[in-house]
Amino acid sequence: MSVSFTEEQPHHPLFMHDQQVENVAHSLHLGITLQHNLKWDQHIDNTCIKAHKRLDILNSLSLKLSRHTLDILYKAYIRSILEYADILFGNATQDNLDKLNKVHKRGGKIVSGAIRGTSSEVIFNELAWETLDTRRDRRKLILYSDIVHNRAPPYLQPHIPQTVQERTQGRYQLRNNRNLSQPPARTETFKNSYFPSMVDVWNNTDPAIKSISTRTTLKTTLCRTTPKPSPFFSLGKRSINVVLARIRMECSELNSHLFANHVIAHPLCQCGQVETAAHYFLECPMYTLHRLRLVNQLRLLEIDFTIDILLHGTSYPASDRTLIEHIDQFITATDRFSLISGPPLP
Ligand SMILES: [Zn+2]
Repeated sequence: MSVSFTEEQPHHPLFMHDQQVENVAHSLHLGITLQHNLKWDQHIDNTCIKAHKRLDILNSLSLKLSRHTLDILYKAYIRSILEYADILFGNATQDNLDKLNKVHKRGGKIVSGAIRGTSSEVIFNELAWETLDTRRDRRKLILYSDIVHNRAPPYLQPHIPQTVQERTQGRYQLRNNRNLSQPPARTETFKNSYFPSMVDVWNNTDPAIKSISTRTTLKTTLCRTTPKPSPFFSLGKRSINVVLARIRMECSELNSHLFANHVIAHPLCQCGQVETAAHYFLECPMYTLHRLRLVNQLRLLEIDFTIDILLHGTSYPASDRTLIEHIDQFITATDRFSLISGPPLP
């Protein structure tokens, strides 16, 4: 393979043992597809194809496995593919990075039970997932720490950007003297490559985190800043789990959600009121008997009957486990959602 930024590859015949070596447009090295023009189209396309195949399998199990299990399977077997060597291809075009983001979103839809049209932000918020960009930035920080503290190959050290103080040779007492200085970049490709893109990440990181010198402590500290999923969201049967998740994400079969998502022409319940989550659980006269039973059960458990608790739990694991069973009984008895009242799963 000859590396060139021009479309037409320069042809320099190379011979080994009197045999001409074939000049190829791309080549696979340690799982990374390198292109002759140093772009990442081929690598990212290959990655997406591989990830989608595994997502198809996960999708076939999406109503059979718990959210917790689906989450673990997605992160271990699919997200790991999307993130393999991501520091290298961080300077791919936005179109290419968006292809990976779409795969990540599809994973989120399968694990959460969200429907088509739900935004990535809502899905990731429901699952407490981070975007691939955020996770890539964190790995950039860890690699920079490795380079500075001699845990990375030494040939990377000469590429460490100067600090502002070094660049100005200490002539000025600037507040950002300890920040890294952005190396000059003429092209977007270079600007988004590892060292220039890492500068912004590093400069915007908490000084307390930047001062950590050991890899384990750095990773543990960064891990503490990541969002944690609510245990309540994984409780109960998968079907109830998905119904509640869809209500929280406002993409359920409640008429106010169907109306907001342009599926039906009005948001009204059969009783004439707007069918919101609060209306369904707390107010609708069609479910008064079922609601009385739920209210009495929660009163015995000393759990407040509020829409926030019904959708997000109490934060007490023992109470939440009982709470989800009673919510399950209410939703099943009201027969309002096709996922519960439909034919049994194969
Ligand atoms: Zn109603």
